[in-house]
This record gives sequence, structure tokens and C-alpha cells, in this order.
Amino acid sequence: MQKITCKTLLYKSGVEYADYCINHIEGCSHGCRFPCYAMNMKKRCGVIKDYNDWIKPKIVENALELLDKEIPKLKHKIKVVHLCFTTDPFMYKQKEVSDLTLKIIERLNRDNIRCTVLTKGIYPKELADTEKYGRNNEYAITLVSLNKNFKKNFEPNAAPYESRIKSLKFLHDQGLKTWVSMEPYPTPNLSKQNLPEILEKIGFVDKVIFGKLNYNVQVSNFQDNSDFYNNCANIVIDFCGKYKIEHHIKYGTKRKDDRSTEKIFRKFPIKAERNPIQTPQLSI
Ligand code: SF4
Repeated sequence: MQKITCKTLLYKSGVEYADYCINHIEGCSHGCRFPCYAMNMKKRCGVIKDYNDWIKPKIVENALELLDKEIPKLKHKIKVVHLCFTTDPFMYKQKEVSDLTLKIIERLNRDNIRCTVLTKGIYPKELADTEKYGRNNEYAITLVSLNKNFKKNFEPNAAPYESRIKSLKFLHDQGLKTWVSMEPYPTPNLSKQNLPEILEKIGFVDKVIFGKLNYNVQVSNFQDNSDFYNNCANIVIDFCGKYKIEHHIKYGTKRKDDRSTEKIFRKFPIKAERNPIQTPQLSI
């Protein structure tokens, strides 16, 4: 894998998940075609040339050195670090990426900085070692479908859906906090699918984030997209209410935004009392 060096690593984040972010890889072999917002951003800034350039990730080889310098200066300000905003920290079948991500989480946790992690890859089982990685991190997968054809077209090189769910469930079963990002959720003209069926698969998680697919002409072409997303958001809210899972519906997805749920990103530990017997049966 190609290497690059950076001048800084930890930066103040604009995402709701965390106050700081780390992107220790440039590019992402998952090659999503929603389109990928991060790829478009890097193209606009002239960092990458095209899609083929984007799907060849480059690792930040001085990431750990940078953390050693930056953590002492920032650790009193940081509440939580998100991995990652413009790449995937556990890129499927990219061991070098996963190994570096594990070292970064370990380094942050050593200074009691907790992490929230989001991937379309597979979580390594090592993360269950809470002596090494701490138990206050939150681990999430993106899951917007169970349709293999949809994955082939839109997330061609990401991990299979069932494997993502299984690795997340493993961390949940070790007592770690888990969540799911169901964003960007496709309209039926992109994938005919059953939202309750997808929710049943991830009913063990602590939080669900649901959001529409933006910047895709086919979504705009779907005549009833506003009704569709409003109904989907209601299904998610009902499901989460029933199983005492916290939820947040991304703004613009429902006809009327609920700003009160954004706080689920800010509080810790997750407060909802979960009764494992009440969670839906999983078939993975
Ligand atoms: S996983 Fe995320 S960063 Fe990677 S290509 Fe897909 S959308 Fe882009």
C-alpha cells in the first residue's frame, strides 16, 4: 500500500458523532457509488484525480508519531474522536489499514480518549480486549440494505452485509456499545427492500441513525420520495421505541425534523435501559 505523510492528524470535527476526527488513510477501496461525498471532496480539492485513484488507499505513515505530539496538547479538550469521516478505518481486506486503526484506537484510549468508529468493513475481534482498548468506545457499521445486488452496484468492495452485522454483534456480546448508521438509505427505484427486516437484523444495537440518500438524481426521480422517507423514519422510530434503542433521524429525512434526538451523539454512557430478552431474534 502506498504511504503518505501528513502535518497534522487530529482535527476539530463538523460531524455530529464526535468533537474531533481522524482520517489516517487517504482514499477508500470500498469504492461506494452513492456517490461518496469524501471522494468528491478530495477530487474538488485536487487531492485525487478520479475514482481509480480514490480506490487505491494511501496510509498516513506518520500517524502514530503525530498522535504522540498532538494528544498531550489536546487531550483535555477532546470528548470523543470519530474514525473516520473521509475514509473507512476497517476497510475490507486491507489488513494494513486495520492494523494501523487498532494502534490508533489503543493510543487514544491509553490517554482515556474514547473513540466512536464507523465502518463498512469487519471489526477485528481484538477490540473485545478491554484492557488494551478500553470499554468506552462505540462501534458502528453502516447498513442500508441486505440486497446483494444493491451492494454490488453501490458498495462494490465493502464487506458483505451479514459479515458486518456478525462482527458488530460479536462486540455487542462482549458488552461493548454498538450502533448502526442507516444512511444513505435508498429509495425503492434503487433497491426494493423491507426496512423492518433490516431493522430486525440489528435489533441488538444501542443506537440507530437513519438518513435519506442525498445528491442522487434517481432519488429525486422517485416521485414519492418525501412520503417514502417520512414513512421510513416513522418505522425506525417505532422500532427503536419498542426495543428501547436510541435513535436519530438525520435532518431533511422526515417532514418535520426532531432536533432533540441529536443529543444521543453527545451523551455517554448510553442511558436507555435495555432488556436483552426484548430484543428481536437475530438470524445471523
Ligand atoms: S466506505 Fe465511506 S469513504 Fe469509503 S468509499 Fe464508501 S462512502 Fe466513501
